[in-house]
Parts: sequence; C-alpha cells; structure tokens
Amino acid sequence: GDLLGLDNLVANTTYLKAQQIDRKELRKRRLSLTLPKLKKTSALQAAEGERYESLCEQQPIGRKLFQQFLLTSNDQYAAAAEFLDELSKWSFAEDEKREKAKQTILAKFCQPGSTRFLSYFTEEDAETCKDLSDSNFDEVILDHLREATREFLKGRPFSEYLKSQFFYRFLQWKEYERQTITDKYFYEFRTLGKGGFGEVCAVQVKHTGQMYACKKLDKRRLKKKGGERMALVEKQILEKVNSLFIVNLAYAYNSRHHLCLVMDLMTGGDLRFHIYDLGKRGIRMERVVYYTAQITSGLLHLHNMGIVYRDMKPENVLLDGKGQCRLSDLGLAVELSKGKMICQKVSAGTTGYMAPEVLKQEYYRYSVDWWSLGCSIYEMVAARLPFRDFREKVQNDEVTRRTLEDECKFEHKSFDAPTKDIISRFLKKRVARRFGYDSECDDPRSHEFFNSINFHRLEAGLLEAPWVPKPDVVYAKDADEFKDSSDIKDVKFDTKDEKFFREFSTGAVSVQWQKEMIDSGVFDELNSTTVIQRDRETAWK
Ligand code: ADP
Ligand code: MG
Ligand code: MG
Repeated sequence: GDLLGLDNLVANTTYLKAQQIDRKELRKRRLSLTLPKLKKTSALQAAEGERYESLCEQQPIGRKLFQQFLLTSNDQYAAAAEFLDELSKWSFAEDEKREKAKQTILAKFCQPGSTRFLSYFTEEDAETCKDLSDSNFDEVILDHLREATREFLKGRPFSEYLKSQFFYRFLQWKEYERQTITDKYFYEFRTLGKGGFGEVCAVQVKHTGQMYACKKLDKRRLKKKGGERMALVEKQILEKVNSLFIVNLAYAYNSRHHLCLVMDLMTGGDLRFHIYDLGKRGIRMERVVYYTAQITSGLLHLHNMGIVYRDMKPENVLLDGKGQCRLSDLGLAVELSKGKMICQKVSAGTTGYMAPEVLKQEYYRYSVDWWSLGCSIYEMVAARLPFRDFREKVQNDEVTRRTLEDECKFEHKSFDAPTKDIISRFLKKRVARRFGYDSECDDPRSHEFFNSINFHRLEAGLLEAPWVPKPDVVYAKDADEFKDSSDIKDVKFDTKDEKFFREFSTGAVSVQWQKEMIDSGVFDELNSTTVIQRDRETAWK
C-alpha cells in the first residue's frame, strides 16, 4: 500500500464524482441508443399470460404507457386515469390538505354535470358518492370507488390498449429489457465491503448513470465451499421482494470469474458502523424509532411473503443517501411453504441475536426475527447487546445460557418507558407470548413506541429521515482494507456448473430496470426519438 493513502483518496474521489454526473455527459453516452424493432415471437411471449395487474399497475413502464393511452383516448378514459391519480394523492395527503383533496375529488368526478364525471359509475356507486360528502369512513368508500374504476379499466379500455400503439411501444421496451447483461454494461468503482464469497463494489450503468452496489460471488470459492444453493436462494428471494425497506435487486449476471448481484447502492453505511464508529456511541432516540419503524415494515413484508429473514442485526441494515434504511444480506433467509416450520441442528444466525427457540433447536417460524429486532433496538440505544456487553470476552455457551435464563436489564440512561416496553415484548422467551407472534391481533406498528410515526406515509417513502448522510463522506472502511484473500486454483467447472451459472444469470429485473429507465430520463428520450414502426402482419394490430 501507499503511505499517504493516496490510492484510497483517488478511489473515493472518483466514486463520489460519479454520483454527481450531469445530464449532458449522459446524453452523449447514449446518442446511439434506440429501441429495438420487435421480433414477433418474443413480443408475443412477453405479453402471453400477463394480466392487467402486471401490465398496467406493477410494471412502471407498463403503467406509464397505459396512462398515456387513457389520457389521449377519450374524456371518459382520461377521467378514470385522473381519478385514480387524485385518489392516491388524497390518500397520502397530510391532515389539513386531506379534506380539501376530498372535496375536489367529489366536485370533479362525482357530480353528474361535471366534465370529468365518471359515467361508468352505477347507481349504487353514485349513492356511495353522496355518503362521502358527510362521512367519516373515507377510506372504505374511496376504496370502493377505486375498485369500481379498476373493474371498468380492466374491461374495454384494457382490451383496446392491447391493440394500440402504446402497447406496441411497451413490447419494444420489454424486448430491450431482455438484453444480455455483461461486465461491459457497467463502470466499476471502489470496494465498499467484503463478504464470505467476494467483495461488494460500487458500479454505474454506463448509459443511465444509475449507481448500484455489485456483490461479486467468486465462482471457484462458491464451488469449493458448496455455496451455490445459498447464492441462488438469496438471488431468488431478492428478485421477488419489492419493498422500500429491503435492498432491491436490479440485475443478476455472470462474468468470467463471478456471479454478480447488482443491488441498490446504500451510501450511508450500516447501522453497526453508526452505533460504534462515529464518536459518541449509540444512536439518538428519534433515529432509533425511525429506523425501527422501517425495519418493522421490512420484516412484515418478508413475513407476509412467507420468508423468515434469520439475520436481523444492525450490521445488516444499510442506510441510503437520504438516510432511509433497508434490510440487506438475505443469504440466510428461507421461504416457508404453508404451515411448515424450521428446525436445524446447526443454529442459523449470529451469536447474541439468536432467539431461545433457535438456540434450543426447536421448531420455529417468524418469531425469531422479532427477537433479533428486540436485541437490535437495545443495541442501537445502549451500544451493547442485552446478553453481552460491548467487547466482552465471553464464550458463546455463556451468551446462550444468559439468553435462555437471564432477565434483560435496562441500565443505560437513554431507555424510556415505551422503549423498555417494546423491547421486553420482543424479548419474551416463550414464543407464544412474544410480540408479533400473531400479527393479526398484535401488530408491532401499533405500539406507543411508534406514536410519532405515520406508517401510511412511511411505507410510501414520504416520511423524511431525521438524519441525512453527508454527500462528501464515504461511510465505509478504506478500500485497501479489503485485501484479496488467497486465490483458489484447484477448481474445475463441468457442464452442471455452467448450467447453474446460466440459471443464475437472468439479467435485468423488470420493475427495477423499468424504474431506472424512467428515473434516468431514458424512457422519455427514447420514446420521442424512436418512431413506432408498425408491422401490419403482427398479431396485435
Ligand atoms: P455476505 O453475505 O457475504 O456477508 P453482504 O451482503 O453482507 O455479504 O455484503 C458484504 C458487505 O458489503 C456488507 O457488510 C456491506 O459493508 C457491503 N454492502 C453489501 N451490500 C451493499 C449495498 N447494497 N450497498 C453498499 N454496501 C453494501
Ligand atoms: Mg454480511
Ligand atoms: Mg450473507
């Protein structure tokens, strides 16, 4: 290494500068970009079996093009599109603006004389509108009207859309989305961290400027240690979840030596780093509440999908540039089939955060994540674990004994009553007594610890963070601290390995990729520069 740390300085500067790239430079990079012409078969494949929900609601580009179709077709379709738009604005409006938004909706869409009147409303719907003017059950009634509108859109408007040039354009984007991804798609920057099978570095998509983190799994190391299945599970779970509070996967591809997972870049560092490495130990209460709220939403998202995370700890919670946090490292996560439970001879998790039922090798399900969350809240406040002091030299057996037998003590002065209460509920040794065990009747989000949090707005990404990372600081260890560990040479790959590498390399993940196209402006640019060349013989005309 160099004594002055110059290499590190240069690495940090190029990495920070890449994040500030300007639009002009980007336009130059993509001058030659055009949307592909459609191949008939692949286009039809893309549309086959796809439903309204996926085509017009979940996929960001599909949603945009369907909206453009509605707004340019006729007054009735346009009114339906605007109605849904205003409903969502109303739903996320803050208290004072809510009543006004509701009155606007009523006047614009629900009065028979108005130009934007929703003429597909039945008499029953119209009656419902009347109730709305003096009702306290806004949510329920507006939900009903939203459903009525969706039912309408799924009918004739949707089938007309499928025959329109807007849908043809959508299929062109799908064709583009399916491109093969290689190393050449990205610029690579400094290493940000290191894991069991290789390093994680910052990368940038050349033609959009979008920054990501790339987790590079060494193929030889994977084979030698038998980590293939775990890598595939991590990839499959990551691509399935779509939450603001879990690191999203944008691409999965393979290079000569690595399997690569390209994920949201989290520039703010992990919570462990914030608890111990930034001067004053511990995190102040306002931030603890905010992070815990986001983590809770992330855990509930996983649990609702039948996934147990099993590695909840501050080290695995990463902050993005705005100071919002996400769960990462889903390498230990498992998906449960209905009614199934987990029981393993080797306890999965990290010492100090593992629940009694894991340590006793009993059957368990989601309860283990709530235990670990209790430990993590405790640690954010007190900068130590409930059953292990900071840097305490103690055997794992002793931590296990304390976890199973001792009461949790709250000696640190920052613990207030609600915080002690929520931690105690998460740290119930008996699973059936633990908070979150039956989320139907004890949803952790309703605990008074979260009184200051509006979860509806939080879960829409609208609640600003109490602390924002500085844009000119790299919240990671120096790049040269992640030295390459010994090379593995005596590994050869056979056809089965090659098949596995291909199975892993599925390329762009639809929702994330489409978001990237929209956010970077590529969507608008290519739509205006590519002429729609419609082929008369194609089946969709
Ligand atoms: P492993 O499963 O091998 O432990 P991780 O997924 O935990 O690997 O990644 C290793 C390290 O890389 C993390 O501790 C963190 O410092 C860094 N890292 C991982 N994902 C990201 C990300 N999305 N953004 C920024 N840094 C990351
Ligand atoms: Mg890790
Ligand atoms: Mg892992």
